Amino acid sequence: MARVKRRFAVATGCSARLKRLAVERVLVITHGWVTDVLALHVNGMPRTPILHVKPKNGECLWLDATAEAVRRLQGDFPARPLTATHRRPRDERDVGSGHGRHREPAVIAYVRMRILLTSDLHYKLRQYDWLIGAAPAFDAVVIAGDHIDVSLPVPSAVQIAALSASFAAVARKSRLLVCSGNHDLNARNGEGEKTADWLDAVRSAALAVDGDTVCVGDTLFTVCPWWDGPHARAGIERMLEGAAQQRSGRWIWVYHAPPEGALSWTGKRHYGDDLLPELVKRHSPAAVLCGHIHEAPFKTGGSWIDRIGETWLFNAGRQIGDVPARIEIDFTQQAARWISLAGIEEKALQ
Ligand SMILES: [Zn+2]
Repeated sequence: MARVKRRFAVATGCSARLKRLAVERVLVITHGWVTDVLALHVNGMPRTPILHVKPKNGECLWLDATAEAVRRLQGDFPARPLTATHRRPRDERDVGSGHGRHREPAVIAYVRMRILLTSDLHYKLRQYDWLIGAAPAFDAVVIAGDHIDVSLPVPSAVQIAALSASFAAVARKSRLLVCSGNHDLNARNGEGEKTADWLDAVRSAALAVDGDTVCVGDTLFTVCPWWDGPHARAGIERMLEGAAQQRSGRWIWVYHAPPEGALSWTGKRHYGDDLLPELVKRHSPAAVLCGHIHEAPFKTGGSWIDRIGETWLFNAGRQIGDVPARIEIDFTQQAARWISLAGIEEKALQ
């Protein structure tokens, strides 16, 4: 145990410089609780959050370390090759591997997940420009629908061209996820229901759109289209049934319209989606990232955050100016922050 504590002390003593000068990777094999503390420290997190992946005794953690830190570790504990007489950590031994077969040690990845959510930018290109600058600080950027402003004299084809270029610029800085809203519908499906088929053309490896289910780090995202009729509505149900087969941890949906509740309150009435509550109860995703009701976060009786069962729901709202109202969601810190012209509000996701 003394050896374990000493290794931890060496690692934490160097951590401030690790981010600036990471030159080597060190595999730390230690007691489960110590690995928890190390993982929190390396990720710059306070001691209190519950880790998404819980290490067991004998599991491992890769750390980026400076050459000096590695030298100090080797000075204190000279490296020994793994031999038949060396006691291997529990997870590396025979669990599930069959007698006599070699098995690689399990490596626990602690993946940071910071999301920037905004929506309803309605062709405010300066707000998109702001997003391009903000995107690198986030693991995923989500624009939850209503990109076009149908009230403008600018033809929708021109808006689509400018928006597509803005999406591509954001996607060069971070992973971008974009769903359609009721203002984005430029085509019709075989049943005559309106769709946003222009989003298909902007899809890329870094840019997920309607109908996509993608992994970002340790999180599965599903991007749902606006549904304009029963055919598209049934399509969303089928899409989520299929995506549910891929879930193994945190699952987040992007879905323009919030359910009826605090996120759908205009100050006068609700405009909630009646499908979403059913879907949330059926699948219990970790979060649904919405938009649609511009006023909800700013009105008495409304909100930017809500919950159905274990599922967190968000709506950043819409504001004037060059900077969008937005929500920063940090699943490693288990906290969400709404930032707008009305100020900053923060809530723990517990
Ligand atoms: Zn809308």
